[in-house]
Order: sequence, then C-alpha cells, then structure tokens
Amino acid sequence: MDLSSADADESKTLPFKLQDSGGSQSWLPPAFACLVNLSRYNKLVDKLLLAAPRGFCAGVAYAIEVVDLALKIHGAPLYVRHAIVHNEWVVKSFEERGVIFVENIEEIPPNSPVVFSAHGVSPEVRQKSAARQLTIIDATCPLVTKVHNEAKRFAAKDYHFIYIGHQGHVEAEGTMGEAPDRMVLVETPVDAERLKLPHHEKLAVLTQTTLSVDEVQSTMEVLKRRFPHLETPAKEDICYATTNRQGAVRELANLCDLVVVVGSRTSSNSNRLREVAESLGCDAFLVLSPDEIRPEWVRDYPIVGVTSGASTPESLVESIIGKFLEANPGAPVEILETVKEDVKFLPPRNLIQLAMAQS
Ligand code: SF4
Repeated sequence: MDLSSADADESKTLPFKLQDSGGSQSWLPPAFACLVNLSRYNKLVDKLLLAAPRGFCAGVAYAIEVVDLALKIHGAPLYVRHAIVHNEWVVKSFEERGVIFVENIEEIPPNSPVVFSAHGVSPEVRQKSAARQLTIIDATCPLVTKVHNEAKRFAAKDYHFIYIGHQGHVEAEGTMGEAPDRMVLVETPVDAERLKLPHHEKLAVLTQTTLSVDEVQSTMEVLKRRFPHLETPAKEDICYATTNRQGAVRELANLCDLVVVVGSRTSSNSNRLREVAESLGCDAFLVLSPDEIRPEWVRDYPIVGVTSGASTPESLVESIIGKFLEANPGAPVEILETVKEDVKFLPPRNLIQLAMAQS
C-alpha cells in the first residue's frame, strides 16, 4: 500500500494530471475527447477540486514510522495498544506484517514490546505496562504529549480542569487520565452552559487536538462567560493539522456542489471535516473506499471537492478520484491550496539506530 504523505510531490504520486486551481487548460487524453462532450450532455461531474493540505499529518506519519522501526527491531508479533491511527487500511497493512492491536494491556504477554498509538495513553496504562515489564515504544503524537504536559503542569499547581473533547475518544481518555479527579469533560456549547461545577480558585481548560475549531470557540466563549477566572492554554490545543484541514475544506465547500471527505468513520478529524463542509450548506459525505461513491454523486454534482482526514493514506484519495474520473475521464482535477505545511516529527534517535543495526 502506498502510504505516501500529502506533502509529497503530487505529480509523482497521482495517476492523473493535476492543475493549479484557476488553471484554464484541462488535461485530456485524445481517446477520451468524445466522452467529454457526452459527459456534459449527461451532466456528469465537470471538475474535481482537491484540497491541500489534506491527508497525513506529521503526527500520523511519525506514528507509522515508529511502528515500522519497532517491527524492524523486534519483529513480529508486535503489540500496539489501540489502532495506531484511526484508519482501517493503515491498521490492516500492519496486521499483515504481524502487528497485533489490543485495547487492554492485559492481553499482551509479559516482557513483550508494546507501541502506544498516536492518540496517547493515560498514566494508568503506563503503570499497567510497567507492571507487566513491557518495553514501551511511544508513538504518541508530540502535539498530544504537549496537552498531557499542560495537564500535569496545571495539576501540580493544584488546578482543576474543564476538558473539551469527545466522550470515549481514546485521546480524551489518555489526557483526562493525567488528573482524573480534577477534570470534567464537556463536548458542546450546550454542555458548557449546563455544567455544574463547585467553585475552584484555580480553573483551566484544555481541549482534544482534533475538534472543530468553530465549535471549540463557541464552547470556550460560554465557559469564559460562566467562569471568568478560567485560564486558557498559551497556545491553542487544537493542532495545526486539524486547523489547516478545516480551513482548506471551508474554502473547498464554498466552491463545490459536493465535498467528499476520505477517511474512517472512527477518525475524529475526518468527521469534523464533513461537518465543517455541511455547516456551510454544502452536501458532504465521509467515505473510506471507492465502492461507497454513489452513482448520483457523479451524476448530480458538477463540481466535486475531495479532501481527506489526517490519518488517510493518499492512495485512498487517488482511488476515490479515479472513481469519479471513470464517469468523466476528461474532468480536470485541480488543487486548491490554502496553506503550505512543513511540520515533521522525527522518531527517537535510539530507535533509528537500533533499526539500522538490524538491517
Ligand atoms: S491530528 Fe494533530 S494531534 Fe493528531 S496526530 Fe495529527 S498532528 Fe498530531
């Protein structure tokens, strides 16, 4: 499977020619020239707009690289606590290489290596791992670790917290586990309005990294009004990748009749992309594979926007675009770039050295 990053040179990874948004010339193989006229008659999709940035973020690329290195060092079977990233294709590709994904540390034989997923774990999970004498390889995204560190720092100073996040999401469980007796979770502005909290002199707010920027802002406004002494983090907890992908889909939704978000239903940031597009009045759907593209999407929407969640391999985006192009091979595919990304996280040096020693 091609796990190439969206940051890669597009022309080298995509099986069709891309144009900058606003380009006037469409790429058209001569053999398909007659199909273009036919497609216009049938009102098939006229143009595809591809959001940039989309797809893999630095944290996902990092987590995948860490598991790859751990496999080189320890071989199979290799245990990973929770899906390394929320994408079934990535998980399956690792399972085929001997990775076993587990939810409970108790499922892992004592003295084995274990990789913690990009979403992070609570101190309780670390303690259980230590009790089983597991060798911990941490693939937590550094931007999630940053929020854990904020929680630890505030807790050490006797703060209580409001955590804006999704109930049951593994990242929320991990971060709230840093101070379980001091944190209360809210999901929406309505929750924030209803929240009943005893007075705490020291009160701070933290957020999950993959939420809707707009909704968090609304929730935050309610909380600040109700708890004027609430302290907010110096820098936004919602990560750069979530912010950038939501900004890009916003532009996309303004220009398209339909937005297709490629990603898993378990992926928080992919779901938020669909919601952002919908909130702007655009029809939007979340799909994981080309089989899910409905015939009417190809037939009824002249301009189709495509984007993908931070855990979606670019090969899936390519297959979705290919599906639309089957209906109208002459439709131009244009890139709509809203911001350039250059964030990269390098795996720990010792992991790289150990993996090199094995090869
Ligand atoms: S979405 Fe953000 S926080 Fe999550 S793995 Fe990617 S960079 Fe890290």
